[in-house]
Amino acid sequence: MAQILKGTTVRDSIADDLKKEIKTLGVKPCLVILQVGMLEESNAYIAQKQKFAELIGAEIIHKRYEVDASQDFIITNIEQLNKDEKINGIILQLPIPEHLNPGQIIDRISPAKDVDGLTATNLKLLAQNNPQGFVPATTKGVLTLLDAYNIDLAGKKALMIGRSMLVGKPTALALVNRNATVRIAHSKTEDLKSETLDADIIVVAIGKPRYITAEYVKAGQVIVDVGINLDKVGLKEEISGKAKLIGDVDFENVQNIVSAISPVPGGVGAMTVASLFQNLVEAAKRQNS
Ligand code: NAP
Repeated sequence: MAQILKGTTVRDSIADDLKKEIKTLGVKPCLVILQVGMLEESNAYIAQKQKFAELIGAEIIHKRYEVDASQDFIITNIEQLNKDEKINGIILQLPIPEHLNPGQIIDRISPAKDVDGLTATNLKLLAQNNPQGFVPATTKGVLTLLDAYNIDLAGKKALMIGRSMLVGKPTALALVNRNATVRIAHSKTEDLKSETLDADIIVVAIGKPRYITAEYVKAGQVIVDVGINLDKVGLKEEISGKAKLIGDVDFENVQNIVSAISPVPGGVGAMTVASLFQNLVEAAKRQNS
């Protein structure tokens, strides 16, 4: 049986540390979450962040724009927030409506307040392995989870499945920074199975429920499942609201083969929230020093 990489346990210990750090800092770190429209799944993620903020003693300002808000309007607002000394971090809740360009909007956030680590400046700092940058929350969460279980990456063959700007690309860079030998697979990869079977560590972020089955893995591997998908088991479960979250990996069967695996829920998702607030507290420290 594989070791289960429990993000919830690591998250709780990070929360305790952050609570203490905030007390010492003497300032309540303040995060602004910008949301465009009212997507239900975004509302759930924002509620999760609000709960964590309350737990550690940080403040959240949730700014909601109309679904047809213009890019200029949002950018003007971001520029005001950049100048506001009370605000330590600013994030744009993704996804946003199609008429808006997420890259252009995010890039107007001051890199010092970009606690999601998605501005061009912070991504460049990640590429340079410069600790002055903020590492994207999910990427940071993956690394912190592996560190917490003493999984060493140096010299290992790591496979990143997925190449999004949000998860795949920054995580691949972070794995290289930790001296792993990294390959990146995506939807055009011809023989994914031969890639997965050749890796020591596999990070999966594709958004395809239970796609990585037992035949993709072998003994001794470490599997990190970033995917968050709704398991629409059946109409009854959907109507009763009992549809559950599942990952991109077929956890039930894969756990019998590999040496370590992160669950969904309770794995990377929990780590992402904690990592975001680690970045926020660090931003507040830098801005107040
Ligand atoms: P995305 O932007 O849709 O990117 C998905 C990536 O997976 C793309 O690069 C795509 O390849 C690749 N892909 C799709 N099908 C594939 C296949 N059959 N074989 C190999 N590669 C395939 O998604 P994302 O934002 O990166 O998110 C991925 C998953 O992680 C989603 O389930 C999302 O909900 C979850 N997520 C979780 C967290 C967390 O905190 N745990 C945070 C963010 C996202 P192409 O580039 O060729 O299209």
